[in-house]
Formats: sequence, C-alpha cells, structure tokens
Amino acid sequence: MMAAVRSKDTQPEVVVRRLLHKNGYRYRIHRSDLPGKPDIVLSSKRKIIFVHGCFWHQHEGCDFSHVPKSNRGYWAPKLKANRSRDRKHIKALRAGGWECLVVWECELSKPNRLDRLLSRFLGPGFAPRTSTQTEASRRQLNRRLRRISARSARRRTLRSSVRG
Ligand SMILES: [Zn+2]
Repeated sequence: MMAAVRSKDTQPEVVVRRLLHKNGYRYRIHRSDLPGKPDIVLSSKRKIIFVHGCFWHQHEGCDFSHVPKSNRGYWAPKLKANRSRDRKHIKALRAGGWECLVVWECELSKPNRLDRLLSRFLGPGFAPRTSTQTEASRRQLNRRLRRISARSARRRTLRSSVRG
C-alpha cells in the first residue's frame, strides 16, 4: 500500500546520497534484506541513514508535519502507523548492531547543520562542503588555534624562565 505512495528516489534522498558520494563513501540503497528497506546503507561501517519526509514520517515539532484538519480521520491513523513502523524498523536494526541516523527533509535546507550531523555520524572522514560561510568559519577557527598555541608557547617560556 505504502509502496505506491513512497517513491524510491525522492529528491531529499538524492541530495544526501550526492553528499556522501562526494566524500568518497560507498553505500547501497534500499537493501530489501534489512528491516524497513533502509534508504542508505553503509555496510562496512554498519551504519544506516534514513532520509525522511517530514509529513509522511511525522517529524515531531516540525512545521511540515501538520496533519490536515480536513480528512483527519483518514490521515491521523495512517500517519501514526507510518511512525510506529519507522520506530519498529529502527529498533530491529539497532538490535542487529546497526547504527541509524534519520535525516529529516527540512534539515536539507540548513546545509551547515546537515554537514555537522553527517560528520558526527560518519566520523572525521566526512568533509563539510565548501561554502563561503564554512570557509569563513574555518579561517576563524585557524586564527583561534594560532592564538592558543602562541599563548601556550608564551606560558612555556615564562615557566622555563621562572624555573631557570
Ligand atoms: Zn521537519
């Protein structure tokens, strides 16, 4: 029933896949031998990424998850079933030793946040995309690191002069 509604290559999923590909990650998609046919499977890392539409998967507290007032009797149970199915799948995957990350559709509009999310999940191998914004924050970080190392160098000389 849901298969008719859920398209296989939804745009948000493609966005995440492109990002992973650019960073050199290997993955398989829609592995039907795993609970919930996960969108993106990084088998060697035993990690799974679901890219969920905020409405269909009922992103909690999200503006895009509102259930239409008309036809509520139709939508409410349907969407509730989607959510509980998602929970069941993730629980089964975790029990099987898979780490799972859910990326929400609305998070794709905040690229810096998405980068942070993915690099936290995948580890340091994930390089954030270069935008003028991340470039600027990287320069700022480098300046700060230089300041810190200069300070500790000063402290070292101070300490050795006290000792000497
Ligand atoms: Zn959302």
